[in-house]
Amino acid sequence: MCKKTARVMGIHAPYGYRFSREQERLEIDGNVAPYVRMLFAWALQDVSRIEIANRLNLIGAPAPGKYDGRRDGGTWTDSAVKKILYNPVYAGFHVMGKSKVSLYRGIGHTPMPRKEWLYFPDFHEPYITMEDYRKIEGIVVQNKIEMEERLAVRRDVRMRIPDCFPKMVYCADCGGRMNFCRGSHHRGYDDISFGYYRCRCSKEFAKCRNKKIQQNYLKIMVMDQLRLLIQATVDRGRLLSTVRSGAVSNVAVANVKKNITRLTENEKEYQNKRLKAHADFADKLLDEKEYRQIGERLAVAELEAKARREKMEKRLEEIEKAVERHKKFSEDIERYLNVTEFDENLVKKLVGRILIGDDGTIELELKCGDVFDHLLLQEYSEKWKQSEDTQ
Ligand SMILES: [Zn+2]
Repeated sequence: MCKKTARVMGIHAPYGYRFSREQERLEIDGNVAPYVRMLFAWALQDVSRIEIANRLNLIGAPAPGKYDGRRDGGTWTDSAVKKILYNPVYAGFHVMGKSKVSLYRGIGHTPMPRKEWLYFPDFHEPYITMEDYRKIEGIVVQNKIEMEERLAVRRDVRMRIPDCFPKMVYCADCGGRMNFCRGSHHRGYDDISFGYYRCRCSKEFAKCRNKKIQQNYLKIMVMDQLRLLIQATVDRGRLLSTVRSGAVSNVAVANVKKNITRLTENEKEYQNKRLKAHADFADKLLDEKEYRQIGERLAVAELEAKARREKMEKRLEEIEKAVERHKKFSEDIERYLNVTEFDENLVKKLVGRILIGDDGTIELELKCGDVFDHLLLQEYSEKWKQSEDTQ
């Protein structure tokens, strides 16, 4: 429609109308007019939109999308019904300014609020009277208010009972992630009082069937396990600090260091032997062939000793790194040692996944497992314990 002359220019007519080129305006499309009339009659009798859609589907009314020859929109839906009900076109209005385009500002189609639309009354034959249109508008607005109220209640419930283990709870039997749900002791939203996790897989694994765990119970169990873990980590951290400070000697490290010293000496010995062989060759005690054979053998032995020394040095470095990392980590979590309440940050920091078994077992998969279970670290503390025991 032209904004200056108010002439209808488009030919895409809304459902129930078609565009008449002679009169340059919309006229009622007799093929689907009975369905549009039924739709409005039901709406005025307070039939819900979804029920209207169901009825239209039942009597085989061609849906708007299908009627327009589009591939989608083959059936009536709640939103298809709403689009017709809440459109002033059916009350004889022509409407402009539904959306704004501001190309020079780079803004595409922006929908405008209804109160800013431009209405041209008595433009074409209406389906409903103005009075009925106002009534339906009232119903739509009331529905919207009720919907918003329901959403607000849901938002409130989401805030009140949040998912404390987002995407962390898994079923140990089927391996699937368990869904967070909110439950009430009665039906409806007014009484939602607890959160729980449920395994959705119920067909293949009989064990999973109806597996549920209450969030509050899980909170307590997870915190219990974390407290034990923190206690053990901090204890070991203190132990490692004692060993490092030299108050106690460490057999594992001492052995590695001893090996490094021995291998370094071996390397030097092979070097000296090569120098000696060279001197002997110069003094003609060795002929060239003998000298080359001895030299090659010594060079190989030296390289072997060097490789073994480097391996040992690397091992020492790894042990020291692991000890350092563990020490830092245990210092970092020491502040959680006396935590009694559920601490979401602590859980997110330490726990990767929580596995729920069918017999109610709860297993934590830790995020930094290597800090707790580093192989070298175990060797380190165990050998230390041995040296403690033998002393
Ligand atoms: Zn399962």
